[in-house]
Amino acid sequence: MTHSTDSNQTLFERAKALIPGGVNSPVRAFRAVGGTPRFIQRAQGAYMWDANGRRYIDYIGSWGPMILGHGHPAVLEAVQKAALEGFSFGAPTEREVELAEEIIRHVPSMEMIRLVSSGTEAGMSAIRLARGATGRAKIIKFNGCYHGHADSLLVKAGSGLATFGHATSAGVPPEVVQHTLVLEYNDVAQLEEAFALHGKDVACVIMEPIAGNMNFVRAGVPFMRRARELCTQHGALLVIDEVMTGFRVALGGAQSLYAQQIPGFRPDLTVLGKVIGGGMPLAAFGGPRAIMEQLAPLGPVYQAGTLSGNPVATACGLATLREIARPGFYEALAARTRALTDGLTGAAQAAGVDFCADSEGGMFGFFLLPRLPQNYPEVLTTDGARFNRLFHGLLDGGVYIAPALYEAGFVSAAHSAQDVADTVALAREVFGKL
Ligand SMILES: *Cc1c(COP(=O)(O)O)cnc(C)c1O
Repeated sequence: MTHSTDSNQTLFERAKALIPGGVNSPVRAFRAVGGTPRFIQRAQGAYMWDANGRRYIDYIGSWGPMILGHGHPAVLEAVQKAALEGFSFGAPTEREVELAEEIIRHVPSMEMIRLVSSGTEAGMSAIRLARGATGRAKIIKFNGCYHGHADSLLVKAGSGLATFGHATSAGVPPEVVQHTLVLEYNDVAQLEEAFALHGKDVACVIMEPIAGNMNFVRAGVPFMRRARELCTQHGALLVIDEVMTGFRVALGGAQSLYAQQIPGFRPDLTVLGKVIGGGMPLAAFGGPRAIMEQLAPLGPVYQAGTLSGNPVATACGLATLREIARPGFYEALAARTRALTDGLTGAAQAAGVDFCADSEGGMFGFFLLPRLPQNYPEVLTTDGARFNRLFHGLLDGGVYIAPALYEAGFVSAAHSAQDVADTVALAREVFGKL
């Protein structure tokens, strides 16, 4: 293949001259799997087309937001109408109120909410609020969970950082992370020990309820229950980061699933992003009135944003949420997702390849391991070279999964039974050559 015929390669060379690594977010660069990133020209429904005009079945969905697939007509119409009315006002709008109402209706642990522009911003702001509301400094996070790239959270973060083999980012002074305790996910004893040692200083525990930044690892019910109990006992806040799982695994988020198994379960603060923007830059955090009223302009915790609650983004998010709130939406999405993971499992078994998978709603994960891992070190026991062969085999055949073994996958409402069947048929071939 020469550069002149591969538009992806040509664009990548141009990009690398101007943008570090040629990308504006590290995992897009394919560093973990090798090869040339596909420059996407357009997308429709379950498909994306690259700069060479090649079509891919898209199981990344912009890393989660595109739950309806690309270019859903109702969402397109809402965005076009909003754009005609104006891009940004820097003043409040009715649509922000409507979106707040729509989100809170489905996630009742939030009485109040603030809209921001990215999951990073939402997570960072939720932590500042937790510290402000409790008057404490320490936070607890878990190895392999990702909550955005705020300084104090770049402590053995998963995802992009692990790709490059760094435990922490350069440029983050030790003083900034000295209050961040990193514990192993699903380790009840370690969490109890941390609270026994530091309980009175802990502002919050922040966690992904289903960790999509280590592919797909569920917080066990006893672990979640104990985290809730310990936070309550010690006056710390439980912050559930549902940037990925919110409106993705269920209409009420992952917290609605834990509430079915842990009576009275609710987080203190919830962090949202991805699906609530429908593909536009929009995220949020929220919780009980008494905590949220600590935020400026009512309280002493400062937080602000020029483009927060952007009118085009809120139109996109609102139209998306209204579509996914239709009866039967999640049942159909979950069934399609399960058909995919069941099909892949069958294909791997037929080829004698170690494989296990899990899914919830429109989010899935799979591992080239005999059983589902419970924490990040277990995820990393995967044979990376083997995963990379699988990735490139699928990509070459027109199926686009995340280019790293510790990233979740996403099925949208636009994925058809035929798309799943085509994917499984290709996987059967690729597994046979692993
Ligand atoms: C994607 C993600 C974030 C960061 O959101 P950005 O919009 O990329 O800043 C935070 N937490 C979780 C769980 C995520 O999946």
